[in-house]
Amino acid sequence: PGKVTLAEYIKDNLRVVSISFVSVTLVIILIIVYLMLKARKAQIQAEKANAAKSDFLFNMSHDIRTPMNAIIGYTALMEKHWGEKEVTAGYLQKLKEAGNFLMDLIGNILEVARIESGKETLTETAWNLCNLEDTLDLLLDRDIYKKQLTLKKNMELQHPKVYCDVLKIQEITMNLLSNAVKYTPEGGTIHFTIRELPYEREGYALFQTVVEDTGIGISKEYIPHLFEAFSREKSSSESGIIGTGLGLRIVKKFVDLMEGSIVVESEIGEGTRFTVTIPHRIATANEYISE
Ligand code: ATP
Ligand code: MG
Repeated sequence: PGKVTLAEYIKDNLRVVSISFVSVTLVIILIIVYLMLKARKAQIQAEKANAAKSDFLFNMSHDIRTPMNAIIGYTALMEKHWGEKEVTAGYLQKLKEAGNFLMDLIGNILEVARIESGKETLTETAWNLCNLEDTLDLLLDRDIYKKQLTLKKNMELQHPKVYCDVLKIQEITMNLLSNAVKYTPEGGTIHFTIRELPYEREGYALFQTVVEDTGIGISKEYIPHLFEAFSREKSSSESGIIGTGLGLRIVKKFVDLMEGSIVVESEIGEGTRFTVTIPHRIATANEYISE
């Protein structure tokens, strides 16, 4: 007595041993299943990233080809009509437009590539937000005039001098406004407002930019895809409106980088309102030198 062999022990404790055996096996199976799921998830993610890359390349090549074709086509036409001043002047204008479009497109593609690789950072300097108005006038006047749109601007700022990434702030604003212009039919109205909201953080101010149009609106189904790269509700050939679907992707990423938020409200046929809210550190008198 007192000496128990393994065989005897198992015999005596059959229930306990079998229960432990089953649970250990179960745990091992669960671990294996977990590891397999994890590996599968990584694989799916890699496949997704790969598919996104192919889509990106495909879309990019397609979008570059269209203006390139225009450039080659109009150059050939100019050659043929060399000396006919009036005709060639028209072609020259088209050439210029295609060139500018290509430049914007390549700029946007580089921007998105930089953003997606996670290399984008903020370069902040002291700036007067009221200067935004000059940028807008400079870039939008012609388009607004062409479509006979009314632009109503409203800036109510107590602390216009702030620390911010000037180029990115300009790009956010320009993208939202250029969309408002593009997707609003002739005779419409665009409201552009920047206001300061109450903010408790010492030395900071909260700025809200609202771009509101009376344009074609965005469908409920499309809204979840609004900020995806190369996504457009209607293609250029469907709507006759040129674009690549990169603008809002860039806007969203820049707003995220600045720890802000963006909200969209829209009604088909009624119009669209984008509201961007971003905090900025207020520039002190000695930080803000240039006037
Ligand atoms: P890009 O900005 O690259 O030239 P885009 O204007 O088509 O091209 P986004 O700015 O990313 O691309 O906008 C994506 C899509 O969202 C647009 O194609 C359009 O369908 C819709 N959209 C954006 N802004 C508005 C607006 N103000 N009114 C109606 N639809 C809009
Ligand atoms: Mg756009």
